[in-house]
Amino acid sequence: MPELPEVHTTVEGLKKLVINKMIRDVWSDFHVGTAVGARQTIKNRKYFDKFRKIVMGAKIKSLERRGKNILIHLSNKHTIVVHMKMTGHLMVGKYKFKNKKWVAIEKGPLQDSFNKFIHLVFSLSNKRHLVLSDMRKFASITIFKTEELHKHETLAELGPDPLDPNFSAEKFFEIIHSKKNTPIKSSLLDQSAVSGIGNIYSDEILWETGVHPFSKADKIPEKKLIEIFGVAQKILRFSIKHGGDSKSDYRNAFGEKGRFQNFHKAYGKKDQKCQKKNCLGIIQRTMIRGRSAHFCPKHQIKHGG
Ligand SMILES: [Zn+2]
Repeated sequence: MPELPEVHTTVEGLKKLVINKMIRDVWSDFHVGTAVGARQTIKNRKYFDKFRKIVMGAKIKSLERRGKNILIHLSNKHTIVVHMKMTGHLMVGKYKFKNKKWVAIEKGPLQDSFNKFIHLVFSLSNKRHLVLSDMRKFASITIFKTEELHKHETLAELGPDPLDPNFSAEKFFEIIHSKKNTPIKSSLLDQSAVSGIGNIYSDEILWETGVHPFSKADKIPEKKLIEIFGVAQKILRFSIKHGGDSKSDYRNAFGEKGRFQNFHKAYGKKDQKCQKKNCLGIIQRTMIRGRSAHFCPKHQIKHGG
């Protein structure tokens, strides 16, 4: 699932490609075969019809990331909120509709096999298309009046962003420390505590700081939690520098892969020798509250029972 660095990378790419472009039309096949009226997203046929009416003719004014969400602010005072979920990613290029499918015309990264599951297409005024490729079709797309975004269920619940200059290590300690009896891995994944961190980065942050994922959040010493905050910022920034993580489906707005997967120390390293200096551990994979965790049982210390 795209996490903070991947969503950041997509937003920065889109800023170069779609600002001030007008949306001429919208196409989607998301609603085919999904229950009508089940949820207020474009997967609901009626919702999509309304969505289409609102966005057609509007200009894309600006883009923003909040947690793992992409906000597309339009000239008509509405904002499209995209959560790419498991396998979704937004890209821009020249596409055509052929044999009931949207295909990229130009040779290059947009032709990557992970980029071919096109389920949402915005036709732009410059003859290019903003598309969503989403193999598993879990992405969520909604529209709100920009001034009512605070009412958006997911956005309203988001905790502070680790790269927000107003967020501090002290505040991070306060939030995580208050999570009584919660494994640190689960606290890091909790978007209402801290936003933007998912499975990959939580594994990497805990490996780097030598903290066992089952450690109870409120039993980890203050000094260690402050270190976790600093390392989280460092790893997230490092990944952004390398274009995010493409171990799975993620591709940027140009359809290209990121490179952070080449630097993994824990995530996806099950049964491999730990890379920590002088550590003889073997990376293990376990489940914590329904999510996988990769860790080294040797150097990652368990705090609390
Ligand atoms: Zn180790």
